[in-house]
Amino acid sequence: MGCKNCKNSGFRKLNETKKNALKKGIGMVQSYASALASRGFGNKKVEKATKQLRVISCFGNQHVGGVLPPCQHLENSKSVGKHFCGGCGCGDREATWLISEGNEYSKLDHPKLSCPLGMPGFTDYTASEPNEAEEPITRKYYIENMEYTEIQDIPVTVQVKQ
Ligand code: SF4
Repeated sequence: MGCKNCKNSGFRKLNETKKNALKKGIGMVQSYASALASRGFGNKKVEKATKQLRVISCFGNQHVGGVLPPCQHLENSKSVGKHFCGGCGCGDREATWLISEGNEYSKLDHPKLSCPLGMPGFTDYTASEPNEAEEPITRKYYIENMEYTEIQDIPVTVQVKQ
């Protein structure tokens, strides 16, 4: 499912930069994601909307009929049906699976969670650079300019750490 399968997706690969930058327009999702990231996460569980943003950042939305491919770092686990982030360097283990089964607590459920690309929904989210709006645009810019309704359509369950 990783981006290796999506080389001709029409989206530019994102560099591993964490610089913040001003851009001409601020997307609704961008301002929401910035607010969440700046607030920090003191709760035991992540909020549903934040997890939905994370799922889009990692998995894209092609699985629900959208056009956004998975992240360039998304890797298939050796365990069928599971995925982990290849950019974090923490490998393929149950604890690093981004989404687990049913009621199990997964990596994307952590209230505070970093992303090597600073993508929307993560605690260290940084806004896209101005040039990311130029064709081919980046996945980050695309997500920042999505409609809320598209985010709300992403199916997620939120688990609490026991
Ligand atoms: S955590 Fe960040 S870099 Fe890793 S797969 Fe998700 S969006 Fe990509």
